[in-house]
Amino acid sequence: MSGNERKYIDEAFESNWIAPLGPNIDAFESELASYVSIKGAAAVSSGTAAIHLALELLGVGKGDLVCCPSFTFIASANPISYLGAEPIFIDSEPDTWNMSPEALEQAMMECAAEGKLPKAVIVVHLYGCIAKMTEIMSVCNRYDVPVIEDAAESLGSTYNGIQSGTFGHFGIFSFNGNKIITTSGGGMLVSNDLEAINKARFLATQARDAAQHYQHSVMGYNYRLSNILAGIGRAQLEVLDERVEARRNVFLRYVNAFRHYDNVQFMPEQIGSRSNRWLTTFTITEEDSAWKIQELLNELSANNIEARPLWKPLHQQPLFEGTRFYPHPTLEAASICEKLFQSGICLPSGSNLGIEDQMRVIEVVERVIAETVQVTIQR
Ligand SMILES: *Cc1c(COP(=O)(O)O)cnc(C)c1O
Repeated sequence: MSGNERKYIDEAFESNWIAPLGPNIDAFESELASYVSIKGAAAVSSGTAAIHLALELLGVGKGDLVCCPSFTFIASANPISYLGAEPIFIDSEPDTWNMSPEALEQAMMECAAEGKLPKAVIVVHLYGCIAKMTEIMSVCNRYDVPVIEDAAESLGSTYNGIQSGTFGHFGIFSFNGNKIITTSGGGMLVSNDLEAINKARFLATQARDAAQHYQHSVMGYNYRLSNILAGIGRAQLEVLDERVEARRNVFLRYVNAFRHYDNVQFMPEQIGSRSNRWLTTFTITEEDSAWKIQELLNELSANNIEARPLWKPLHQQPLFEGTRFYPHPTLEAASICEKLFQSGICLPSGSNLGIEDQMRVIEVVERVIAETVQVTIQR
């Protein structure tokens, strides 16, 4: 927390707005919309709920197809299944680790040939790094398929000066506890389509028709954010720029520390983009990298340092067994996202990570990387 949260929570208590509506919600929506320069925002209970609403507003229903990156958190894809639709998983490409425009094009071509285009494309800006939006938007526009940007991890990241989450028809943000700003739990749906944002608010409050009695013509959800949590969100938004700076500095210290090791490759940042560096991630570019990543995870854990592998691709999850997957064109046997999963790691990257703590992480990582370099040379 940054300090100002209590002020907004107190306001909620004093005015007795302890409900999923109230002045903090209205203010949080307009302040976030203004921060990312978009016309409308609807505050909801989670990022997942925001994706669900976006898909529903685009008319996604039973039997429809939706493209989604394979290399992402499960929450990007679960709402596709909520609606009875079917995901088509798209590989990453090596320049951004995000959705491959080439693989997406291939999927679109085959869907078009089969006479059934996807109803929507979900793009994710993983770990805060912007996907190849110019190329992806061009493919989607050509096939006239709307885009939902899952910007849950990339709030504050920009591409050519434009905020992530504002390129597609809809953008979603998450304020879960692990994100760059948090309301403990919460999310936001944003769009320049104000009619759709109003409809999202309607669907998120049980789809109650305009009548004095309780009248319902369509099925809705209980997805609104509470006025108390929106108060936390307002104070968090005030420090978002500082948080982005802090996370970028954490990233730069790691880069600086490991710059001598050419087997370490940090998640690349495409020209024109500025990542919030939500998490600092790198891959080990050696043959037995999977083993080395495991050793890194073990060694960090033994030193009481929490680190994680990169996301396990969704097309390899038991839940999505048998789902269609389009790999990025490459000469290698494994797809790009499979390789990333096997060879990558997320390092501690909190906005409040102190320099001494970070030095401790760097020491352990360096010890393991240096060891593995030696091992390679000995062979
Ligand atoms: C966190 C996250 C979500 C889901 O957000 P919640 O608020 O936790 O529901 C969706 N997509 C990605 C990529 C995420 O990291």
